[in-house]
Amino acid sequence: MLDSLGNLERTHSCGELRGETVGSEVVLMGWVAKKRDFGIFTFIDLRDREGVTQIVVSEETANKAHAKAKNLRGEFVVAVKGTVVERTKETINAKLPTGEIEVQASEILILNDAKVPPFQLEVAGTENLASEDLRLKYRYLDLRRTRLQQNLITRGKVLTKMREFMNVNGFIEIETPILLKSTPEGARDFIVPSRIQTGKFFALPQSPQILKQISMIAGFDKYYQIARCFRDEDLRADRQPEFTQLDIEISFANQEMVFRTMEGVLKQVFTLSENDFETPFPRMTYSDAMSRFGSDKPDLRFEMELQDLSEDLRETDFAPFAETLKNKGEIKCVVAKGKADYSRKQLDELQEFVKRYGASALAWIKLGDETTSSLHKVLGQEKIERLSQIANAEKGDAVLIVAGKKSVVAQGLGALRIEIAKRENLIPKNVYKPLWVTEFPMFELSDDTGNYNAMHHPFTSLMDEDVLLFKRAIENDETELLGKIRARAYDIVINGYEIGSGSIRIHQREIQNLIFKALGLTPEKARERFGFFLEALEYGTPPHGGFAAGIERIVMLLCQTDNIRDVLAFPKTASAQDLMMDSPGAVDAAQLDELGIKITEES
Ligand code: ASP
Repeated sequence: MLDSLGNLERTHSCGELRGETVGSEVVLMGWVAKKRDFGIFTFIDLRDREGVTQIVVSEETANKAHAKAKNLRGEFVVAVKGTVVERTKETINAKLPTGEIEVQASEILILNDAKVPPFQLEVAGTENLASEDLRLKYRYLDLRRTRLQQNLITRGKVLTKMREFMNVNGFIEIETPILLKSTPEGARDFIVPSRIQTGKFFALPQSPQILKQISMIAGFDKYYQIARCFRDEDLRADRQPEFTQLDIEISFANQEMVFRTMEGVLKQVFTLSENDFETPFPRMTYSDAMSRFGSDKPDLRFEMELQDLSEDLRETDFAPFAETLKNKGEIKCVVAKGKADYSRKQLDELQEFVKRYGASALAWIKLGDETTSSLHKVLGQEKIERLSQIANAEKGDAVLIVAGKKSVVAQGLGALRIEIAKRENLIPKNVYKPLWVTEFPMFELSDDTGNYNAMHHPFTSLMDEDVLLFKRAIENDETELLGKIRARAYDIVINGYEIGSGSIRIHQREIQNLIFKALGLTPEKARERFGFFLEALEYGTPPHGGFAAGIERIVMLLCQTDNIRDVLAFPKTASAQDLMMDSPGAVDAAQLDELGIKITEES
């Protein structure tokens, strides 16, 4: 028989009681995290989102409650009335914030029972957790774990801090629709069929980009939104098909204003951590980031920059190097500090690692008691010593060299830099290293189509210095020049994560037309997709710019997790499914009929 809650209200949370409250009468409610029977005493760890309090039920003083406690099992929902008592010295639990006290129960109400959970909730260490799929199916149970509860509480606080900052600084929160038209952010759209306009579709926003720009045209001056975005792309560990951004836009903005705003809001958000960072953030151009770190999101918590050996090898007749340089490739290296003792096997492993990025081999120099190198025979001792010097390697270090196409060298060595740092524990914990990466290329060549795409999005303006070159490229059809054009686009990177991107926008229709042309969009196509926006640009558009920061990534950093699902209440799997709700799911034939949709092939 279950008890009814009646008018009973709780007086405290399960994380609240301390020594000062000894002697008070309290009412706690929560879930049974653990129960231990010791004959005349039963101990219950009672849990709610704020913490755990130990309840002691004595047969002597609370006979009825004691009898009831015998029936309790894990995850039963109970209310406990009792008195706060001091624990004896030996029984104080220093690990528990409430560990100085326990509640001596006088009455227990069993508000609900619970089936035996399909997995154990709290286990020591993440490696002992039940499989993630099982935990996702029973997400409401997994969410009872302290760590996940804390992550989501932190997420809520992040949103509050953001709103506080934006509101105080004159930004207006504007909600834009979810049923929208395609907004290009480089991913596929999720589409929603319209019943009333049969045969037509809405697209879910990849971002509110166009609408926030139109809000500037409308005169709102400073906009923000905690915006849900949807992108149908292949998922990776740190991606989800839907995610949330702090989206901002500022009229009459220059880059500095956007930078100051974002630094301000992030500074405020990261007060939630004990580890602060300095503002303004350091800045690095895209091209510097690529050449120094092989990545446009360098992790600055450790050094190990890429060093260029190409110049010094220009005269070499060692065929793989000579060929590389002839084909405008590069030869670069990273130095693994103190790793002159890398074994053959370890070096082979690292070679396999860089091969995944398209490198054909990994050459090495080890500055041990003697200098040894895989290039010894082909380059000779003197050259090897010289290369080690250029690489700034010292006795005891290993120099790891990759030759090849620029992109392969950057990716291979960029990834190797991180891999070695992880293996050798070179990455300090509890440090945040933010960075602005600036001057991104406007266009990137798509491997699939051979066409140029917008690297950020097509509403990004060009760097003043590159406008003439851009016009030349378009007028003379010199498309190969497009790769050289830089945009007024910037990213924030923290600890190797891209936290968000933004840009100063195009506010003049002619330039916008030219960009669409460069992207291979015919005027008809551009009108069909963005006609409303192109028209809006002609009605007095102020210069404007903005940014969008990914909430999940920020919360991941604050909660120190690499798993994006740890910071979402109801996440999807890597194959874009919700295992709890079993979605996406089939719909009734009648519903499809109404929408004028026919499924031609069952998968
Ligand atoms: N809409 C862009 C994005 O979602 C951000 C921006 O340019 O403001 O990445």
